[in-house]
Amino acid sequence: MGFRTDQIHAGATPDPVSGAILTPIHQSTTFVQPSVDDYMETGYSYSRSGNPTVTALQARIAKLEGGIGSAAFATGMAATNAVFMALVNSGDHAVVSDVAYGGTYRLATKVFARFGVDFTFADTSDLDAVRAAVNERTRLVFTETPANPTLKYTDIAGVSEITAPLGIPHAVDNTFLTPYYQRPLELGADLVVHSTTKYFDGHNATVGGAVVCRAEALLEAVAFVQNAAGLIMSPMVAWLTLQGSKTLSERMERQSANAMAVAEFLDDHPKVTRVSYPGLASFPQHELATKQASGYGAMGWFEVEGGVEGGKSLMGSLRVWILAENLGSVESLITHPATMTHADMEKPERLRVGITDGLVRISVGLEDVEDLIEDLAQGLDLL
Ligand code: PLP
Repeated sequence: MGFRTDQIHAGATPDPVSGAILTPIHQSTTFVQPSVDDYMETGYSYSRSGNPTVTALQARIAKLEGGIGSAAFATGMAATNAVFMALVNSGDHAVVSDVAYGGTYRLATKVFARFGVDFTFADTSDLDAVRAAVNERTRLVFTETPANPTLKYTDIAGVSEITAPLGIPHAVDNTFLTPYYQRPLELGADLVVHSTTKYFDGHNATVGGAVVCRAEALLEAVAFVQNAAGLIMSPMVAWLTLQGSKTLSERMERQSANAMAVAEFLDDHPKVTRVSYPGLASFPQHELATKQASGYGAMGWFEVEGGVEGGKSLMGSLRVWILAENLGSVESLITHPATMTHADMEKPERLRVGITDGLVRISVGLEDVEDLIEDLAQGLDLL
């Protein structure tokens, strides 16, 4: 089946009791046992260990990413946490992209470091830097591509060719492009991480996450942590995400087309000093972006005249764009990473990887693109 068919039908079967075509929200803590020695044929016993609505979403996400299975989580961070917990022990070492969502950096440095895990934040866009970062204690390479917020790309196949012979699992955070545009498992990665909060939901209605696996042993390890640590997604969130995911391809296409138009407008504007969007020929990794994925996504960033003050003043004068932390929704959102999403990164490290004080991140939504551009134009005119 094609992607559009799978995003609507994978994992969903009409309810055998009522015939309802939408998978019901199985809002139940526990499931009856026919006898002390038996469980229901369905295998469900307690919703932390498994819930039918969550199972349906897990099957859909696994199918869309081309994995053998997936585990859904309370948030994207719970998904990343589960990958770390499943694969690294005290005394082990992990390599993480030096540009990644700020919460990933925080989890590594403020939580897992306390348990004796050693991290190298490497420029994973440089394969020599990845080769130099791995050592005999490395048990995980975790890349994010394109990375939040600078959009730095990592060559997924290139990194996998380094990790596979060493038996090191390579996990890719594919939140920004989704499987509609980028399929890390087909490029050699072993695990895919999602904040389903973003494009899978797409409507600013939930927070959730997922980990998709290439092999049974990895899925077992991740699912074990999902249950043992209780990092599960709720049935209500799974149900909302099942509905949102049905239009993933259409939203990605339209929002990406809007993003291209917004990027071109910003690129031509005299008060904009820098624009970054993977679809622009000026994007430093335009070639890799074109080769590795079938679309450029709907995320971008820019800097305006007047630096931080200019950026803040612009963000304060917009009427259609919403100043908020999320991304990937039908609503267009504008964010200041230095004070919002990446506030917990130490400033020297943040600046070293290119997250400047004046960087304005945009998540382009599904509104009429003329309105989005007009709004930016009136804000820029005030500078
Ligand atoms: N990965 C990426 C690329 C993100 O942008 C985010 C959140 O912004 C996360 C992971 C964490 O997801 P959540 O906010 O659902 O915990």
